[in-house]
Amino acid sequence: MHELSLLEGMVQGLEEEARRQGFVRIHQVRLEVGRLSGAEPEALRFAFGPATEGTLAEGAELVLLEAPGTGLCRACGAEVEIGARFDPCPACGEGFVDVTGGTELRIKDIDVE
Ligand SMILES: [Zn+2]
Repeated sequence: MHELSLLEGMVQGLEEEARRQGFVRIHQVRLEVGRLSGAEPEALRFAFGPATEGTLAEGAELVLLEAPGTGLCRACGAEVEIGARFDPCPACGEGFVDVTGGTELRIKDIDVE
């Protein structure tokens, strides 16, 4: 489950930052997760507990801000929403869709004490 190692890396970065700024606890973590990021929201929720255990973020609430996958069709030029990276264009049914959004997986912000 790669979501766990992803989160562990993020939490480690958060902790370092929090300590540097003198925070004692992280209450809430808001994470942007794009449909095409390769991370599953369910798996992220499941892994968040174990990933934050024993850290400043232990017991924090995880808020997932899910972003749709978007792309630009090379064949018809339409801006479309896609569910997976190599999906065909839903407007014309063919062509190659260049991904323009939905690949992000990053911490948007956090609530600290
Ligand atoms: Zn198209």
